[in-house]
Amino acid sequence: MLKIDVLVLPPLENNCYILSCDKKAIIIDPSSEKDKIIKACEGYDVAEILITHHHFDHVGALQDLENYYHLNHNEFKNTFGYEVIKTPGHSNDSISFYFPKDKVLFSGDFIFKDGIGRTDFPESSPLDMINSLKMISSYPDDITVYPGHGPKTDLAQEKRHFSYYF
Ligand SMILES: [Zn+2]
Repeated sequence: MLKIDVLVLPPLENNCYILSCDKKAIIIDPSSEKDKIIKACEGYDVAEILITHHHFDHVGALQDLENYYHLNHNEFKNTFGYEVIKTPGHSNDSISFYFPKDKVLFSGDFIFKDGIGRTDFPESSPLDMINSLKMISSYPDDITVYPGHGPKTDLAQEKRHFSYYF
């Protein structure tokens, strides 16, 4: 069973997630405040640093943590057994991380509670977003979704809104 901790950090109330189990940890989206993140990971062997996409508000502490833990981000070592799902739309490099055993999805700025990510950035694609939403609709309803900003939700609830965008 994964333990999921969230640090809500600047610059845009970003959710930095720390997943842990058996003394190992994964950091997802180290947005800022490296010291807080390092403190939250004390006692764990940080095995991976994952980022959902390269927007500035998700990676503010990335370089510092890579240096501190001697890791590169997105090495995809499959710690805790996750699936990397390409979910472009908000940005062309947007990915989500799905942990099937715990049925949890870390969606970055792809899906939020009661909404989806903006697609009006230069590197966004509304068409890719629609295809990503259609693709994720085939995943189980009882997945808990942990977005890059705001509270968690579940996929069943979000699927109800998706058809609005198609
Ligand atoms: Zn973003």
